[in-house]
Amino acid sequence: MTLAPTYARYDVTFQSGSGCVLTDSDGVEYLDFLSGIAVNNLGHCHPAVVSAVQEQVGRLMHVSNLFYNAPNVELASRLASRSLGGVVFFCNSGAEANEAALKLVRKARPRGDIIVAHNAFHGRTYGALSATPQEAKQAPFAPLVPGFIAVPAHEIPSLVGAGTAAVLIEPVQGESGVNIMDPALLAAIRSACDAAGAALVFDEVQTGMGRTGTLWAYEQVGVVPDAMTLAKGLGGGLPIGALVIGERLKDVFAPGDHGSTFAGGPVVSSAALAVLDVIDDEAFLAGVREQGERLLEGLRELPGVLSARGRGLMVAAEVAGGAPELAKRALLEERLIINATGPTTLRFLPPLIVTAEQVDDALARIRKLLS
Ligand SMILES: *Cc1c(COP(=O)(O)O)cnc(C)c1O
Repeated sequence: MTLAPTYARYDVTFQSGSGCVLTDSDGVEYLDFLSGIAVNNLGHCHPAVVSAVQEQVGRLMHVSNLFYNAPNVELASRLASRSLGGVVFFCNSGAEANEAALKLVRKARPRGDIIVAHNAFHGRTYGALSATPQEAKQAPFAPLVPGFIAVPAHEIPSLVGAGTAAVLIEPVQGESGVNIMDPALLAAIRSACDAAGAALVFDEVQTGMGRTGTLWAYEQVGVVPDAMTLAKGLGGGLPIGALVIGERLKDVFAPGDHGSTFAGGPVVSSAALAVLDVIDDEAFLAGVREQGERLLEGLRELPGVLSARGRGLMVAAEVAGGAPELAKRALLEERLIINATGPTTLRFLPPLIVTAEQVDDALARIRKLLS
C-alpha cells in the first residue's frame, strides 16, 4: 500500500453512492450516517449537484483569481447576504478557511493573541493546528505558531482583553464529540470581545450548511460573529472553503494579503450554489430539525445508550465504553456508517436528506449492536 499511513482506515472500498446509501466494491450496501464527516449534506451524488458540476466542468474549469468567474461572484453574494453581510474569501478546505481567519484577525489587531477553547478542532495546517489544543495532535509537531491561548471555554470571557486579536470557537464542537456551547457563554464571549475591540470568529466548518437545523449554527444561539469559516458541506462533496467576513472587518484584507491558486473556481462554486439552492429553504431545514429530534429521542430510548445530545443532525450518544469497536462493528456487521469521537462517544452525521424510515432503520441496527 503506497498511501501515506496518516489515517486509520477500515478495509472497505466504496465504489458508488446514492442518497444515504453507499455501495462497496463487492456490491454490499451501507447506510451512511457519517456523510463523509459532514460533507455529503445532500447525500451522495445528489442530482442537482451532479448536473450543476457536469454542466460547469464542460464549460470552464479554472481561470485563477487574476480574473472573475460568474459562479464564484454569485456564491460570494449568496453567502454574505444570507449571513454576515460583508465580503467572502474563498479557499479549499476548513483548515485553510481558519488560516485565512487567523491572518484576518492578526492584521486587524497586530500581534494580538488568539484565544481558543479546550477540545477545539480547527484543522491540521500549522496555524489551524496551533488553534487545536489537543496534545496528541500538536506535540509531535512542536514548535507551533506562537500567540495562541487555550483555556476551558467558560474561562474565555474573563481572558479577553486589549491584547486579544480574536476568540476562535466552534458553536458546537464537532471532532471532540458534539459538545454544544452554552448560548449564554457565547453571549458573554461576544460582550467581552465587543468591550475589548477583539474579533469573534465562529468556526462553522462542520456546523454550517444546515447541519444543525438552521443554515448556520449561530442563528440558533442569538450571537452574531464578526466572521465565520465554512468548508465541509459547502461544496456537496467537492473541496471548497470560505471565510465570510462581516461588516466590521470587511476592509481589513487588501490586495496581496492572502490568496490561493485553486480557490473559488467555477466548478466548486457551481456545486456550492446547487447545494445552497436545496438547503437554504425553511421547509428543508425544518425537516433537518425533525429528523434530528427523531434520531436523538430514538437513541435515548436504546438500552446501552447512557445519554444523547445534538443540534439538528449533528448528534452524539454516550455509551459505557468501547465506542471505537462499536463503530467498527456497526460498519462490518450492521453495514451502518457512524464514527466514534472518543472511547465512550458515538457520533451521527447523516445526510440532511435522511428520511424517518432511514433514521428508524439506523436505530434498529444500533439496537442490535448494543444488545
Ligand atoms: C473538519 C473541521 C476543520 C478542518 O477542515 P479540513 O477541511 O479537514 O481542513 C476545521 N474546523 C472544524 C470545526 C472541522 O470540523
